[in-house]
Amino acid sequence: MRRRFLAANWKMHKTVGEAVAFARDFLPRVKAARAEIAIAPPFTALAALGEALAGSHVALAAQNVHDEAKGAFTGEIAPGMLADLGCAWAIVGHSERRALFGETDAFVARKAAALFAAGLRPIVCVGETLAEREAGRTFAVLETQLAGSLAAVPGERAAELVLAYEPVWAIGTGRTATPAMAQEAHAMIRGWLRGRFAAAADAIRIQYGGSVKPDNAAELLAQPDVDGALVGGAGLEPESFARIVLAKEEP
Ligand code: PEP
Repeated sequence: MRRRFLAANWKMHKTVGEAVAFARDFLPRVKAARAEIAIAPPFTALAALGEALAGSHVALAAQNVHDEAKGAFTGEIAPGMLADLGCAWAIVGHSERRALFGETDAFVARKAAALFAAGLRPIVCVGETLAEREAGRTFAVLETQLAGSLAAVPGERAAELVLAYEPVWAIGTGRTATPAMAQEAHAMIRGWLRGRFAAAADAIRIQYGGSVKPDNAAELLAQPDVDGALVGGAGLEPESFARIVLAKEEP
């Protein structure tokens, strides 16, 4: 019942020309894909990539957003501005935003609510650090992030929400969670979502993120509560992202 959803987070990579060249190479590769697909380029490439993706089934996503609709917020981008560019999604609460830019769960919650209000949908990231995992605090950390970051999600929109479980120690390190570790965390998150959103929890997609590659995607995606992936490094090359998108349900 949950359609697989793969999203590429390009972070601070690719010029406008590189983004358009990616789309030209990537789109024919995923023409027959059944999965939902989104690409989150830097803000500077959103308009051009949106044009390059027009008419395809690959959606445009932003990597971040501000929670206010307009005003004196130098350097920030409002949800309505993203909608104006054809963005369907925005990533919020990425661990790099939390760790490097001091974003709190409360801020993430306001961003998610602002996205829903503007007609977009959030991909809300949560995940523990290595020190937190080694201290046996993974579930406690996830519970705190979920409660804080999802505090303002309107109940009637809950099914449109997407979560990304991204263990911080697996992001950009080449060190992936095992399929069993990912499933354990995803099942815990699903259980928490049931307590918060009741039956809608079974429709909420939970992506795994953290060094997903063409070679490990199939076995991660075969886990019952892993409904897709948020892909950093391997999403920068058309061939490797397409192989992840097309990974079989069963390894
Ligand atoms: C990410 O930044 O969301 C991510 C998962 O990166 P990578 O795939 O490179 O680990």
